[in-house]
Amino acid sequence: MHAVNAEPADRPDLWPWSAVRGDDGQLHLGGMPVSQILAGIHTPVYVLDQADFKGRAYVWATAMAEEFWDGYGMNGGRAYYAAKAFPSGYAMREAVSAGMGVDTASLGELTVALQAGAPPEDVGLHGNNKSDEELRLAIQTGPAGIGRIVIDSEEEVERIGEIARELGRRARVMVRVATGVHAGGHEFVATGHADQKFGLSLAAGDAKRVAWRAAEHPDLQFVGLHAHIGSQVFELEAFVQSATRLVGLVKELQEVGVPCGELDLGGGYAVAYTAADPVAPSQRDVARRLAEAVRSECASAGVPVPLVSVEPGRSVVAPSVVTLYRVGTVKPVPTESGRRIYVSVDGGMSDNIRPALYGARYSAILANRTSPAPLVDVRIVGKHCESGDIIAAHASLPQDVRRGDVLAVPVTGAYGHALASNYNLLPRPGTLGVENGQKQWIIYPEQISDLMVRDAFINARPTP
Ligand SMILES: *Cc1c(COP(=O)(O)O)cnc(C)c1O
Repeated sequence: MHAVNAEPADRPDLWPWSAVRGDDGQLHLGGMPVSQILAGIHTPVYVLDQADFKGRAYVWATAMAEEFWDGYGMNGGRAYYAAKAFPSGYAMREAVSAGMGVDTASLGELTVALQAGAPPEDVGLHGNNKSDEELRLAIQTGPAGIGRIVIDSEEEVERIGEIARELGRRARVMVRVATGVHAGGHEFVATGHADQKFGLSLAAGDAKRVAWRAAEHPDLQFVGLHAHIGSQVFELEAFVQSATRLVGLVKELQEVGVPCGELDLGGGYAVAYTAADPVAPSQRDVARRLAEAVRSECASAGVPVPLVSVEPGRSVVAPSVVTLYRVGTVKPVPTESGRRIYVSVDGGMSDNIRPALYGARYSAILANRTSPAPLVDVRIVGKHCESGDIIAAHASLPQDVRRGDVLAVPVTGAYGHALASNYNLLPRPGTLGVENGQKQWIIYPEQISDLMVRDAFINARPTP
C-alpha cells in the first residue's frame, strides 16, 4: 500500500480552489495561511472554502440547466443539494442562491432548509419512514407545500393523501423506484431483485402500481419518478442504466394515461478522496451523459423528455472542506516487518467516522511548514479509545513531523460534520468558512459546557 498524499498543485481536484502552498511554506486556504486561520481557533476544525462550495453548487445547477435545455418552453434540468451530506443553513442557502433545490430526509433537515430561506417549491422530502410531523410540515409550508414528497411505499399513498386532505391541500409527490441498479465505490452490480429498504420495485410492478394510485388520488399531484442508485459511484453508465429503466416506466405509465412530468436520477456522483483515486467525472460530464441518454431513450420510447433532476450531496461539498488537526504524540511501533510511525492527532473517528465505518481512505499533508526531511510512510490516528480510530492508514509525511505541527486532510466536507459524534465526550468541531482573507463560523464548535446540557445528572430537569 503506497501513500497517496497530494499537494494542491499535484491533484487540484482533491483540494478547494483557493488551496495553495504559499512561499511561506504554509498551506493557504481562502487567501490565508493556516497560522492565520487557526489564530484564536481550536483544532480540529473543518475549514470550508466558501467560494469553492458556491462554485460547485453553481456548476451543478448550470450544467443541468444547460445540458437538458431544449429551447424556450421546454423543461431543462435541475440539481438539488442533498442536505444530509453537510447539513447547514449556510450550505442550503448558498445552494439555493446558486440555482439548486434542496433535498431533505428528516424534520431537522426540512426545518433548517426552510429556515435558511429555501423556497418551499424547491425543496424535496425523502425517507422510507416519514413521520406525520414531517409530512405535515412538508404539505402545509408555503403557499402550496414543498415541491416534492418522494413516496417510498404503497401505504404512503393513503397516508400522504389523508394528511393533505386534512390540511386542504394537494401534495406534490414523486414515486421512488428501485430500478435494480445498485452501484457504489468501484463496484457496479446490476441486480434484478433489490433486497434493500428503499423504493418500490420496478421489476415486480410495484412502482407502476403505486405511481398509478398516486396519480389517481384526488389529494395528490403526481409529479414523476425518482431513483437513487448508491453513493460514490464513478461509473456514469450505472446512472445511464437506471435512467434507461426509468424511461421505460415512463412509457408504461403513459400507456395507461399517467404522464410523468419529472424524473429525478438521484445522487451518488463520486469524488476522488486520495491521489490513488481517478479524477471523478465532472458535473458537466455527468449532465451531458445523462442528457444524451434520457433524450435518446425518450425518443425511442416515444415519450416527451421530462424535467430531469439530480440530487448530488457529496460532490457538491466534499472537496470544499479541509480538516485541520494538530499533531500530538508521534510514536514508532514495532511491527512484523519493521516499525510503523503512528502520528496521533487531536480528533479522529468523532469528526470523521468514514474510515472506521467503511474503510474510506484519506490522505494528509503537513500544513504549517515544509520540511527538507525525507517522506516516510506513517499512520495518522485519532485520540479515541479504539484501535480502528484511523484517519489515514498510510500517509507520507516528512520524517521530522512533530508535536504541534498542523496536518490538513482534504475532501472532508461530505459526511464528516454530518456524521460527527461526541464519542469519548469530545466536543464536535466547528466549520469555519474562509473566503478572500476573511473567516467566519458556519457551524460553531461545541464547547465542553455544551456536552453537559443533556446530562440529566448535571443539569436536572423535571421528567414528564
Ligand atoms: C444520500 C442521498 C443523496 C446524496 O448522495 P451523495 O452520494 O451524497 O451524492 C441523494 N438522494 C438520496 C435519495 C439520498 O439518499
